Amino acid sequence: MFPASFDYKAPASLSEALTLLGQSDDAKALAGGQSLLPLMKLRLASPATLIDLRNVPELKGIRGDGGGVILGAMTTYFQAVDSPLVQQKTPLIVQALRQVGDPQVRARGTIGGSLAHADPAGDLPAVALALNGRMHVIGPKGERDIGVRDFFVDMLTTALEPDELLAWVRFEATDTPHTGTAYAKHRHPASGYAVVGVAAVVMLDDAGNCVEARVGVTGAGGHAIRATGVEQALNGQPFAANVEAASAHAADGLDLLSDAYASADYRGHLARVLTRRALNEAAQKARG
Ligand SMILES: Cc1cc2nc3c(=O)[nH]c(=O)nc-3n(C[C@H](O)[C@H](O)[C@H](O)COP(=O)(O)OP(=O)(O)OC[C@H]3O[C@@H](n4cnc5c(N)ncnc54)[C@H](O)[C@@H]3O)c2cc1C
Repeated sequence: MFPASFDYKAPASLSEALTLLGQSDDAKALAGGQSLLPLMKLRLASPATLIDLRNVPELKGIRGDGGGVILGAMTTYFQAVDSPLVQQKTPLIVQALRQVGDPQVRARGTIGGSLAHADPAGDLPAVALALNGRMHVIGPKGERDIGVRDFFVDMLTTALEPDELLAWVRFEATDTPHTGTAYAKHRHPASGYAVVGVAAVVMLDDAGNCVEARVGVTGAGGHAIRATGVEQALNGQPFAANVEAASAHAADGLDLLSDAYASADYRGHLARVLTRRALNEAAQKARG
C-alpha cells in the first residue's frame, strides 16, 4: 500500500521545525515513523507535509537531572535501553522497552513518538505514568511542562496542540533505597503490542509496609492510566498482606476495550493478574 503524496521537509533546528509546523494546518511531525507511516499507508492519515525531526539536535540526548533522567524526544528505544544512565536510574524503562515490538521497531521508534502517539496498547505510556513523567513541550507560544497524568487525554489523543512539539521527557529515578520496579505484559502474539501491560514502582519500609506504590496500566482502556484504586489500597499498608486485594482494583473505573483477540472481561482479568505480578516483582527487588 502507498500513502497519498506529501511534501517532505527535514529542518536542522527546533525553531525551523516549529516554523514549518505552524505554516500548514495539515503538517505532521515525523519521528521514527513506526506508527505514522503505517497509518499513512492505510490512508488513515494523509498529512500534506511531513516534518522529519531526525536532524533536530535539540530533541536528542540523554542526561541526568537531579533525581531524574531526561530523554530527548528523538531518543530511540535502543538508545534508551543501551544507556548506562537509564539502566542505573530507571531500569523500568529498560525492562519495558526491551519488550516493544521487534528489533526494527526498537531501532527506529522514539520515546517522543511513542508518547505523542498515545497508542492505547503502547508500552511506554504505562512506564511514564509509573515514573511520574513530565513532558516538556515547545510551541509558538513558548515552552510548558505537562505532567503525565494530564498528558494522555483519550485514545491517540494527548494534551499536545497541533503546532507544538514534545521536546523531552523527564522520568523520576528509582535508584533510591528500598525501591523496586517491574513491567508485566501480555503481548499480542502478532504485533507484540501490549494487550495489557502494567508498570509498577514499589517503595517499602524496613517492616515491609508499602511507603508508596505507583501503577501504570496500558492496553486495557482507551488510554494508559494510573491505577489509583490499587495505589490507595496499598499505600501505608503491609505490602504482602494487601497486594492481592489491592490488585483487584486494577481495572476500576476503566471503560475496557474489547476486540477479536481479547474481550473486555479478559482485559480486566489481565489487568488484575499483571498488576499483582508487577507489584510482587517490584517488591522483591525493593527488598534487595
Ligand atoms: C510491527 C510493529 C510492532 C509494534 N509493537 C509495539 C509494541 O509492542 N509496543 C509499543 O509500545 N509500540 C509498538 N509499536 C509502535 C512503536 O512503538 C512506534 O514506534 C511508536 O508508537 C511511535 O514512535 P515513532 O518514533 O515511530 O513515531 P512516529 O510514527 O514517527 O509518530 C507517531 C506520532 O507522534 C507524532 N510525533 C512524533 N514525534 C513527535 C514529537 N517530538 N512531538 C510531537 N509529536 C510527535 C507524529 O506526528 C505522529 O502523529 C509497534 C509498531 C510496529 C510497526
